[in-house]
Amino acid sequence: MKLLIMGPPGVGKGTQAKKIIEYFNIVHISTGSLLRDEIRKNSNIGVVASSFIDKGRLVPDKTLLSMVKKRLSETDCDNGYILDGFPRTIDQASGLEKILEKMGHNLDFAISLYAEKDELVSRLIKRGNDSGRSDDNIKIIIERQKIYWEQTAPILDFYKKKNILNNINGLGKINIVTKRILKVVEKNA
Ligand code: AMP
Repeated sequence: MKLLIMGPPGVGKGTQAKKIIEYFNIVHISTGSLLRDEIRKNSNIGVVASSFIDKGRLVPDKTLLSMVKKRLSETDCDNGYILDGFPRTIDQASGLEKILEKMGHNLDFAISLYAEKDELVSRLIKRGNDSGRSDDNIKIIIERQKIYWEQTAPILDFYKKKNILNNINGLGKINIVTKRILKVVEKNA
């Protein structure tokens, strides 16, 4: 099972990805988490990444593509994985295609979670009270929403054309949203 989950910041990608990996016993690859690990290690990637993340901007495609390529080549990915928060640009989506092709992998589903912008902003403001994330503050939250619609939403069409896109309502209780996702995935599996 190889999936990706996308949607605007705050829609619950990470929360749902955690439920899905438990259900299918696959690996969770969150590029946001990988980048935050690099920042904690104070690595070269981390130093560059924090300058973008703190402004709510996207980290350059080249960095993301080499990070994901390396992660996908690790043996725990052989059983399947869910990509969370990647790809986020058209260049990342086409770069991922090339990586997967070389590895002989095929994406089974792209899940796109959607919700109202106002709901997302208020969720992120609430999350910011506990998350300790440098990018969960109102100015950056709004910037991240804008960037999603400008740079990431266009890739929905990319996966629609491949016939693997599933739009799923991300509003509601966590377990209800998980059920919506599993219903779609199992129906098409
Ligand atoms: P997330 O945890 O997915 O909300 O990501 C947090 C931040 O990490 C984003 O706002 C971006 O600055 C950066 N980031 C995560 N994934 C990507 C990606 N695929 N491309 C570029 N930047 C990313």
